[in-house]
Amino acid sequence: MYNIVLFGPPGAGKGTQSEKLIQKYGLTHLSTGDLFRKHLGEGTELGLLAKKYMNEGHLVPDEVVIRMVEEKINETKNTEGFIFDGFPRTTAQAEALDEMLAHNGLSISGMIALDVPEETLKIRIKERGKTSNRVDDQDDEKINTRIKVYLDETLPVADYYSKQGKFQKINGVGEIEQIFKDITSVIDSY
Ligand code: ADP
Repeated sequence: MYNIVLFGPPGAGKGTQSEKLIQKYGLTHLSTGDLFRKHLGEGTELGLLAKKYMNEGHLVPDEVVIRMVEEKINETKNTEGFIFDGFPRTTAQAEALDEMLAHNGLSISGMIALDVPEETLKIRIKERGKTSNRVDDQDDEKINTRIKVYLDETLPVADYYSKQGKFQKINGVGEIEQIFKDITSVIDSY
């Protein structure tokens, strides 16, 4: 079983690569951003709560995110493992994830970080904003906030896995297929 954290700033290509990885390895995709957007679309209480944070580019409070992930892990049966995409985004979330997995006799295989320069991220997000219908993809201020939040609050999560000897960085610029190949060679080394 593989439990992989796909890491990187907004616009790094985590969603694109996750789609390909779930097909190749039969993994379950657990994207907290997608889960929140699903709740938002369905107008659930959780969706309403998350909305004000998401639309401004801020993080949803840890306890809310953790509860949602725990639910998803517990309801998933018969999987080859998980790809965590957009989670954990804080060290507290990473600690909670380790605990949740340990409860089920599981652990993280490794974190794979997609490395993309800031200017490229901004261009990609704005391009996506033309079709994504995401309020947080639309204007410079929100995009800048998300990148700043990533640098201030999320980047320390890389250290968390690095200290466990579970961190690897991949070049996230170039052909999608090449990036995918680089990721699969890391996974196949686990
Ligand atoms: P991106 O990686 O492009 O910024 P996501 O789809 O992963 O987008 O997340 C969109 C928004 O959802 C985030 O800006 C944040 O408000 C919220 N969110 C998603 N995952 C988390 C998380 N693990 N912790 C806190 N907030 C989250």
